[in-house]
Amino acid sequence: MDIRTIGVVGAGTMGNGIAQVCAMAGYPVVITDIAQAALDRAMKTVDGSLERMVNKQKLTAADKTATLARLALATDMKALADCDLVIEAATENIDLKLKIFASIDATVKPGAIIASNTSSISITKLAAATRRPAQFIGMHFFNPVPVMVLVELIRGMQTGEDTLAAARAVVLKIGKAPIVVRNSPGFAVNRILVPMLNEACFALGEGVATPEDIDEGMKLGCNHPIGPLALCDMIGLDVMLDVMNVFYSSFNDPKYRPAPLLVEMVEAGYLGRKSGRGFYSYDKK
Ligand code: NAD
Repeated sequence: MDIRTIGVVGAGTMGNGIAQVCAMAGYPVVITDIAQAALDRAMKTVDGSLERMVNKQKLTAADKTATLARLALATDMKALADCDLVIEAATENIDLKLKIFASIDATVKPGAIIASNTSSISITKLAAATRRPAQFIGMHFFNPVPVMVLVELIRGMQTGEDTLAAARAVVLKIGKAPIVVRNSPGFAVNRILVPMLNEACFALGEGVATPEDIDEGMKLGCNHPIGPLALCDMIGLDVMLDVMNVFYSSFNDPKYRPAPLLVEMVEAGYLGRKSGRGFYSYDKK
């Protein structure tokens, strides 16, 4: 299937980034959100992001104008009717997403592809809630979308080969790199990354080394751009704990048990950067 027009549902952090990169690549994009305020904020964010690119001479002013002109906003999902691909990037809540997919499915033409940017919900389960599980796929972008090159393409049990091929073509056209992953908790990247970060919490809790030395070790010994404990603080320790708990319960395997120190830090309200304290202190003073 040739994808000519793209819809994005949810104009938050991820949705506005996805809409921006698709419009920059030349696709007309329809963004929908239940909240007009979210749509207005998204346009401001995209405008600011494009303006920065113009200032850095990575984009011409004419291209910026043309990109913005390719973006249409709507609070009514019916605006998605002519889209060949709709990428859902709404709030991470399964009941909400199931309702959204029922209405996308009822709105777009037969043969149109539906994708979800979910980080943690089974693509097979979401696909099965539509009348077109073969035309359903996971497209997992990384934050911030205009900067991060990877897109995980998640095949649900019923995802068709032509759906995968069409999604791959879109990812390449927007200048990103796809990897193909079977539907499984955490897909590939978070499945590997988050238990590694959890292991750093175990090591710290067992007194293997100081936080600074653990981070220095992984930066200099593995060429990671940031240490695992500093990365935990950026992601949020509560988010880390949620993901480990999802792995623990879905694989039913003790190797995914959350580190006791991680649990206790969350109990104490030490959530990382957003709370001012995690493994490091972010006290502005
Ligand atoms: P967000 O909270 O920034 O944005 C969600 C948007 O969805 C909001 O604007 C909200 O108004 C809108 N929304 C809620 N109900 C809706 C409905 N019925 N119809 C249309 N829009 C609706 O969330 P986010 O961080 O952009 O995350 C969106 C999705 O992307 C989630 O599934 C999340 O798991 C996934 N994801 C997030 C990240 C990340 O780093 N933030 C990374 C990869 C994937």
